[in-house]
Amino acid sequence: MMRNFIAANWKMNMTIPEARQFLHGFIPTVQSVQEDDIIIAPPFTALYAVANAIQGTNIGLAAQDTFWEEQGAYTGEVSPRMLRDAGCQYVIVGHSERRQYFSEDDVVVNRKIRATKESGLGVIFCVGESLEEREADKTFDVIKREVEAGLVEVSFEKLVVAYEPIWAIGTGKTATVEQAQEVHAFIRKILYNVYGDNADEIRIIYGGSVTADNVDNLMSSQDINGALVGGASLKPESFSRIVHFKKDIS
Ligand code: PEP
Repeated sequence: MMRNFIAANWKMNMTIPEARQFLHGFIPTVQSVQEDDIIIAPPFTALYAVANAIQGTNIGLAAQDTFWEEQGAYTGEVSPRMLRDAGCQYVIVGHSERRQYFSEDDVVVNRKIRATKESGLGVIFCVGESLEEREADKTFDVIKREVEAGLVEVSFEKLVVAYEPIWAIGTGKTATVEQAQEVHAFIRKILYNVYGDNADEIRIIYGGSVTADNVDNLMSSQDINGALVGGASLKPESFSRIVHFKKDIS
């Protein structure tokens, strides 16, 4: 059976002492979880400290972004190789906040994904439509374009796709299970076109105002294989409850 993938995106939050304090409360509460993957994506500055604190636990580490070159004169940038060196197993690529505030387009996203995979790291590849696009009935066109463009010359191993409707990120508006399920099934179909049966191995996770209160409902959907969690991942209690989601199969 496929392992669910539950990831915390801390965004530009958490100093090193704050991250350590979070982990002090969080680690003991999730030690018993063996069947799912738990990942934390701190800001760059806290990566190494978090890597040390989670050593020997069932928690993995991700970075929130990367550059596509391996090294050189790129002031301010960090390469996949450096992230691996700092202890990361995954990198989030294509988050809508990167696309929106830093003008990252599909070509840039694809370059970053390829560089990340080449360095041996896994990718959490984010796609999602804006409210205007949804209202204009363009959701499926946008998702198709982003998924296909992002995955040019990308292999299926260690690939996680995150469906994150932009209108649901940080807004408190969650997609309904039906809305999420519909897009996840559509993404799965595209992945079958690209990878054939190997697409079975790719987790498709949902992100957008996931909380301790709505996670059970979302995770009960057949095609939702995990969650990418922003705001609700900043408190050990709420992220722990999310990790301990219960499938509602009634
Ligand atoms: C995110 O940033 O990936 C996210 C889903 O944020 P939030 O949970 O706060 O909506």
